Amino acid sequence: MRYISTRGGIQPIPFKDAVMMGLATDGGLLLPESYPQITAGQLESWRKLSYPELAFQVISSFVDDIPANDLKGLIDRSYATFTHPEITPVVSADGVCILELFHGVTLAFKDVALQFLGNIFEYILAERHEHLNIIGATSGDTGSAAIHGVRGKKGINIFILHPHGKTSPVQARQMTSVTDANVHNIAIEGTFDDCQDMVKALFNDLEFKEKYSLGAVNSINWARVLAQVVYYFYAWLRVTDTGPRPVGFAVPTGNFGDIFAGYVAKRMGLPVAKLLLATNENNILTRFINRGDYSLSAVVSTVSPSMDIQVASNFERYLFHLYHEDPARVRAAFDELKGQGRITFTPQELDQVRQDFCSTSVDQAQTIETIGNFHKETGYLLDPHSAVGVKAALDMLPADMARVCLATAHPAKFGEVVEQAIGAPPPVPSAIAALDGMPTRCEVMAADLDKVREFVIRNVE
Ligand SMILES: *Cc1c(COP(=O)(O)O)cnc(C)c1O
Repeated sequence: MRYISTRGGIQPIPFKDAVMMGLATDGGLLLPESYPQITAGQLESWRKLSYPELAFQVISSFVDDIPANDLKGLIDRSYATFTHPEITPVVSADGVCILELFHGVTLAFKDVALQFLGNIFEYILAERHEHLNIIGATSGDTGSAAIHGVRGKKGINIFILHPHGKTSPVQARQMTSVTDANVHNIAIEGTFDDCQDMVKALFNDLEFKEKYSLGAVNSINWARVLAQVVYYFYAWLRVTDTGPRPVGFAVPTGNFGDIFAGYVAKRMGLPVAKLLLATNENNILTRFINRGDYSLSAVVSTVSPSMDIQVASNFERYLFHLYHEDPARVRAAFDELKGQGRITFTPQELDQVRQDFCSTSVDQAQTIETIGNFHKETGYLLDPHSAVGVKAALDMLPADMARVCLATAHPAKFGEVVEQAIGAPPPVPSAIAALDGMPTRCEVMAADLDKVREFVIRNVE
């Protein structure tokens, strides 16, 4: 299996090179040349597999440059860190099926992908006698999942910038309590945008990037999407264990990574009846699907902050397929977006979009109401991101369908919002309680690019 760029500017490369490249060198995103096809018989034969065994079946069909036993080991180690025996269990409540993706170390679904990515990085770096310095900015979830994905790993340093005092206390502690020598937390006296601008500036300094082998862990890495494809298969198998029925997935969406993984599962032949893309007030993708309106507006801060995104980085992967794998069309679309702040679509393209997805937007009042109602009726506590998906599913998917709602974070991660909804703080899981009193390490720094650069150099050398 080889990988190509949505912008058409690179020769096909094998899986390991695609992982190490991250963003394609021509500015595009990497995708496999084709999708492996799963037959109905194969799917049935996967019913008895454990999560890691299923992950091996799905992932290995995209990877032909890592020996099977090595790949199995990487997968087993990645999911051994999860606290639930099923890794991503499916729970039914009030006519929907909740796919719990938050049993990893940082209690958010990003662990599913970043535990795997950390292990793959370490494996490839060891084989190539190379090292990598990961630099990223975070407003909370991605940074902590990335830190936990690479802590203590050989050949990797990680530097994560977060805005000092502006992440939730739990999110900050999940990062700063990791004191492994290869982990460097930097609290910037500034905003998330300041953090992101400085990270971008470091990556744009090509000499610095080369000299210090900078790398990223953002959601454009193909290995992250690939790891997420697995739980669509897993959940489909669980909800059809007692007999066939149509299955739809409701996905609270930010960067389009999670739902794109569902699209990949469908392209591989998983019988998915509906892929429902749920947004909060940042609803550019909902406007696109329902009205063909892909025009940028300002980012609004909401109670589901991990979905507060306007330009969804993985959307380009879908556009490439919508345009029948024509990179020239992808380039033209992004030129239009740059010039005019919008992309326009033909009626035929919009028909195709609506065959692939349906969508709705859920505002903050509805999100809080959903957490409250759902708790009252079922006793089950949703986090605000998961609540967006549940509300969308109840409104948009028929009741005779297995309505699988992706639960992307543990409610205790967003305790203040949950308290607003149910009038009491959610129970604190031991993983969060244990953070209190743990030693922490963090460098507080002014929003000064030179200082950040010096800090990186000092800690790499
Ligand atoms: C990242 C994140 C999302 C959005 O996922 P995308 O892959 O960016 O669409 C939703 N919920 C939570 C809790 C997240 O951390």
